[in-house]
Amino acid sequence: MGAEYNLNKLKDINQNIFCNKCNTETKHKLLTGINLTSFDGGQHEPTFWTNYDTIQCYGCTTISFRIGESNSEEFDFISGKPELGFPVVRYEYLPKRLYLKKEISKSKIIPPVLIKIYCDVIKAFESNLEYFTAIGIRMIIEKITIDYGASKRGLEGKIRQIHDKGIITEEECLILIKVKDIGNDYAHFNRSHSRNTIKSAIKIIELMLEKIFHLPEHVKSLDRP
Ligand SMILES: [Zn+2]
Repeated sequence: MGAEYNLNKLKDINQNIFCNKCNTETKHKLLTGINLTSFDGGQHEPTFWTNYDTIQCYGCTTISFRIGESNSEEFDFISGKPELGFPVVRYEYLPKRLYLKKEISKSKIIPPVLIKIYCDVIKAFESNLEYFTAIGIRMIIEKITIDYGASKRGLEGKIRQIHDKGIITEEECLILIKVKDIGNDYAHFNRSHSRNTIKSAIKIIELMLEKIFHLPEHVKSLDRP
């Protein structure tokens, strides 16, 4: 087993990277990077590459860290031409990237406690804490219904109440009941869902928060001279 280390520094990174502080993808610079190449020595044995990179956002100058892993067995080929292939690199970022929707996380209209739960849901999702993510999503739905005066005991009843008040449409009511059921699966039945399903539930909650809280404000501004 052999290992080689190479030092890289002060290079622009071609791909934009999400910055937590800028809350969007930005251009980054590599400050320093150690590339570790590991191999067994045999001609047909795979080679593994690991990059330990200190990176800096050009927008806000925040410094963070990433580890990239790749190997000689996994290549992406452009147009099926092996000579144009490049290794598939999987990056892990430290601190973890929080893909918060700034329209929600920086909203002046959505109640602060809902924003707090939303941010916690995203943190839990990015930390692979699926139970906390799903239960947090359920909490957001419950909080919205209570804020709009729903008082029934079960959450489905509360969702139907805000539909009866005209806050959400029939279609949105049925969607929220489905999303609520995912939270119930975790909270009451120890039943899990795929990461993609949870991601879709988050997207739905983001759209609903914007629709319920921001849409009426935009509509009001249409009537202003
Ligand atoms: Zn930044």
